Amino acid sequence: MRIDLHAHSNVSDGTENPADVMASAARAGLDVIALTDHDSTAGWDAASAAAVEHGVALVPGMEVSCRTEEGISVHLLSYLHDPKHPGLLEEITKAKDARHTRAERMVTLLAEDYPLTWDDVIHHVAPGATLGRPHIADALVAAGVVEDRSEAFASILTSRSRYFIQHYAPAPAIAVELVRAAGGVPVFAHPVASSRGRIVGERVYQEMIDAGLAGLEINHRDNPEEGRRFLRRLAGKHDLLVTGSSDYHGTGKPNLLGENLTEPDVLARIEELGSGTSVIRPF
Ligand code: AMP
Ligand code: FE
Ligand code: FE
Ligand code: ZN
Repeated sequence: MRIDLHAHSNVSDGTENPADVMASAARAGLDVIALTDHDSTAGWDAASAAAVEHGVALVPGMEVSCRTEEGISVHLLSYLHDPKHPGLLEEITKAKDARHTRAERMVTLLAEDYPLTWDDVIHHVAPGATLGRPHIADALVAAGVVEDRSEAFASILTSRSRYFIQHYAPAPAIAVELVRAAGGVPVFAHPVASSRGRIVGERVYQEMIDAGLAGLEINHRDNPEEGRRFLRRLAGKHDLLVTGSSDYHGTGKPNLLGENLTEPDVLARIEELGSGTSVIRPF
């Protein structure tokens, strides 16, 4: 069984629509894929229909943007939550709206130095999609300023850049509580991805664990080996699930479907714990 529990469509910052992500998953030889768009479940219906068509099981999921009180960005994967749960819905809607305002402010700053307009950015965003820096990157690529998204993130768009602006996002422990309240299974995404920016210390892990964290996404290309050792110890100590995933973004990132996988017994535990919705199986 080949199980990949982290992928994005153009409902957020992936480049393929949800049905095409499922087709790509089938082509990559996956048996199970989770669709985990940033702060949105808008791709679930189309992905469910395509799951049946392409013979790949779908784990409905989402990646919740969070921020600690020190301003460190945390991504929380949620599996099998109720997409209509009011508390969770309210927080992701707030974050999604704040992402819009923040992108506008970043584009205003960038436009002082680069040939970039708000329309150029919107051109790369599917209707209703969760807006992020990757969409600004796409506009910078189209304008010939950078070669690809990776170059944009390594320079103009890093969190250390003078054009970078934060957006509202709930505290990680609050997000864990809300995911649980919505019947979902919360898993800390790429927890030690230091190349993306600052990473959290012990206190935040403890707060998330106390709030009901279920697992750690240890096998992810952005987690360096030393950090993985720390995470494996933490998982052992607190009996947390260990997942592995690609974080596929279509052509938006080099990450390939199935480059990291999750064990079948871990998926079975996720299915036992999740009560907000069910895995869509084609057979
Ligand atoms: P934002 O949430 O708008 O601050 O942007 C962060 C998003 O950019 C994350 O969801 C990543 O998927 C994406 N991202 C981060 N680094 C890169 C990169 N080097 N190339 C492409 N996308 C990236
Ligand atoms: Fe992303
Ligand atoms: Fe992420
Ligand atoms: Zn992701």
